[in-house]
Order: sequence, then C-alpha cells, then structure tokens
Amino acid sequence: MTPSLTKRLLIISNRLPTVITQDQDEWSVKPGTGGLVTALAPVMRKNQGVWIGWPGCGDEAPLDKLLREFKDQQGYQLVPVPLSEEDVERYYRGFSNATIWPLFHDLLGFCRFDLTDWQAYNAVNQKFAAVVAEQGEKDDFIWVHDYQLMLVGAHLREMGIQDRLAFFLHIPFPSPDLFRRLPWKKSLIKGLLSYDQIGFQTLRDRRNFVQTATALLPEAEVVSRHRHHTLLKWGERVIKVGHYPISIDFDEFDEGARSHEVEDAAWYLHENLRGRQLVLGVDRLDYTKGIPERFLAFERALEKYPELIKRVSLLQVVVPSRTLVPDYADLKEQLDQLAGRINARFGQPEWLPIHYVFRCLKRVQLLARYRTSEIALITPLRDGMNLVAKEYCASSVENNGVLILSEFAGAADQLGKHALLVNPYDTDGTADAIYQAFTMDPEERRQRMTNLRSEIRRNDVHRWLRRFVESSEEED
Ligand code: UDP
Repeated sequence: MTPSLTKRLLIISNRLPTVITQDQDEWSVKPGTGGLVTALAPVMRKNQGVWIGWPGCGDEAPLDKLLREFKDQQGYQLVPVPLSEEDVERYYRGFSNATIWPLFHDLLGFCRFDLTDWQAYNAVNQKFAAVVAEQGEKDDFIWVHDYQLMLVGAHLREMGIQDRLAFFLHIPFPSPDLFRRLPWKKSLIKGLLSYDQIGFQTLRDRRNFVQTATALLPEAEVVSRHRHHTLLKWGERVIKVGHYPISIDFDEFDEGARSHEVEDAAWYLHENLRGRQLVLGVDRLDYTKGIPERFLAFERALEKYPELIKRVSLLQVVVPSRTLVPDYADLKEQLDQLAGRINARFGQPEWLPIHYVFRCLKRVQLLARYRTSEIALITPLRDGMNLVAKEYCASSVENNGVLILSEFAGAADQLGKHALLVNPYDTDGTADAIYQAFTMDPEERRQRMTNLRSEIRRNDVHRWLRRFVESSEEED
C-alpha cells in the first residue's frame, strides 16, 4: 500500500537511482535495485515525483537521452547534479567517506579531518541545494537522504526556502563524545537543525542526536518526548526528531527465494558441499563490517569445538567496494591472508573451512545462498541497519535458518529477540554462538525463524515509508 502523500515528492540523494552501462557503443539505463528505490518508485510515479542526484557517469554518456528514456519507462523524472573529478575526490571520497563514514560508525582511527574536504562538502551540498531550489514548486515534500547531504537543508534556508524539509540518515549517529571530535561540529549540527523532520534508524541514534544537539547548542531545548519522536526547539522552529528503522520488500525476497531457479541453485550449492551446515556472510568490502573479526571467531569455533571440523563451512561473499582507497585495499589484503592461513591450518583434501568469494553475485545466486545456508553470521562492528540480515530471513523460506547478529547493527533492535546476538569484538562469545546455532534443534530454529520472518513481513519497507511520510504530515 502506497502512503497517502498529497504533495509532490522531491527526493535528493547522492546518487540517482539508476545503473547506466555501456556495451560497445550502446548506452543503456536501468533503475537501481534496493529497498529504497522499490519503496519509493510507486509513490514517485503517482505524485509525478522528481529524484535529484549525481548520475555517477562521465561526460561521454548521452545523459539527457538516457534520463528521458528513464522517465518514459519508470514514470518519474530524474534531475542530475553534475560533479567534477575534484568534487568527487574531496566531497565524496574525502569528507563523506573518510571523515563522516568512520566517525559515525565509531571508528575514529580511520578518520581524516581536512579543511579542504569540509569546504568541498559544503560547496557540493550548496550545488545540490541550488538544483532543488530550481526544481522545487510550492508545497513539495522535500526529502533529503543520507550523510553525504546533511547541509542541503541549511543552504535551502539561506536561499529563502520556507517549505517543510525532511532528512533521513541511513547510517548511525554517534555519541556526543565522538561527535565532538569533528572540527566543524557546530556547523554540521546547525545544518541538520535546518530540517523540520529528521529521521534516524534507531532509538539510540535519535537519542545520540538529541543529546549532541542540546550539548553543543545551549539554546536548543527538548520540548517533549514521544514514543517515536522527540520535539526539539531551536530558535523559532520546532523540529521533529524520530526513528524509523528502514526495511526491505519482504514479499520480493520471499517470492524470489521460492522460485524454481533459486531452488535449483540452492540444491546445487549444498550438493557440492555434501551434507555440511553452511554459515553465510555477505558484505560489501568495508572495515565497518567486521569481516576479519568474523574469520577469527570462526577459527576459534573450529579450535574450541573440534566436532565442527568437516561439518561446517563459512561461505563469505565480499562485494568489491572502494577498492582504490588504501584502507579498503589493506582490508582486502588482510582478508586474503586470514582466509589463506585458516584454510591452511584446518583444511583437508575434501574440506575447506572458508569459501571466500570477492565479487558481486547475480540475484539468483544471492537468494540461493540465503535460502540454503543453515546459519547467517552477520557481525558488523557498527551498522546503520544491515539489510542483509533482513533479506536472509525473508529468503529463509524453509524456516530453518539461524541468524547470528551483531548487537551493534541497527537491525538488532527489531531482530535481537529471536536472533543469537553477539558482540563482534568478543571472539570466544561469537565462536560459542556458532556452536549454539550448529547444535540448535529443528523446533527452536523453526520457532525463531518464524518470529523473525513475521517481524520483517509486518515492518517492511513500505511501512517504513508510510510511517515517515505520515509522521511528517501529522499534527503534534
Ligand atoms: N548485495 C548485492 N549483491 C551481492 C551481495 C549483496 O546487491 O552480491 C546487496 C544486498 O542484497 C543488500 C546490500 O547489498 O541489499 C547490502 O546492504 P546492507 O544494508 O547490508 O549494507 P550496506 O552495503 O548498505 O552497508
């Protein structure tokens, strides 16, 4: 059910929701995948929505033609914000991904604080705001997404825009103590307070934000606290700060995992691994995902519980990402070495403890792994939500998977009760959880997975969208 949004929707995100590809001389455009695009597309079509973002392709692509094609196919309009190579380096790879990303994931050691990056971030946010101001019409619902664009609202206010502005942060928000390390902390917090509605993934993120804002700005004060939001007064304005955990399209995964194609691929995977329990990890290459820690916990499980030897294999899929950035290249190197060392230590001619693949999977292959793996081992050091955890459960159509989940993933708030929660820094505790999952009886597995699936079915991405939009429109 699409939300009853009466206004035209303007979505602003770093990237446009497209995949632009070139095959010899032929260019083509397809809609991107992912929960956000799936949930927003019907509303965008219904309300003649506009999506503003960086197209992510070079000047050689026939962009106008491709975006017209997209509009004809998808029924809503895309407006590009072109960025120079210098912008991408400083705003995107620099301030967004080398300052905000590690800081907001509690990994201060990875942070780079550079004035030129900050200035570029500010300038690119202003560039986005100029496009929004040009495209906007009176009474639009203007909704800015994520950590790359936190200052767009402030620039829109400077341009005299009085409309209601909404923002959603997809990654965590850090504690006041961590946030204080940022040299431009006050400007960023004031920037965020230019929005009328700010959405976070979890209650913890929302509390961190409210505490940070009130600590840094003595004139900001809490007006009232409600179950799903806090009202914060700053100057003349009252800002609604809520938490709205994002989700997936449950039916899409459930139906996809039941298809014959996926069933065949799943059967083949297990056939090849002869009666073993599969422990699955699926992550983008990122130091927040806790993959080396996971390999060590798996090793510890083999050491501590020798009966696991030849009875389990860890299937770790790592999707290449930011591979040119040194921290990411180092991580890749570390994973190669760890997997090699553990396989050399425990491997036997007919059994490899870790099957590690470094590539993006086709959809059928991903769903097959979700469907057939008896255990999912999802152990980020910190994660805004972690959609893989939800996708695994939605695809576990035989109701027999066990979810081992980091307590530091946003998803733990909704799934923690029926998953096995672990601290990813606790090697022994995670090893014990692997053993507990391995030996869990079928009835307990079924019960836990049934509960996980009904939680995700009930709170799917369509509900998330409805909650955010309706919360924006309701009177306080
Ligand atoms: N994913 C994918 N191809 C793969 C493996 C994963 O497209 O080979 C997708 C997966 O379905 C999920 C997303 O990547 O939707 C990862 O989202 P998540 O929230 O877990 O982490 P993020 O990468 O956004 O930090």
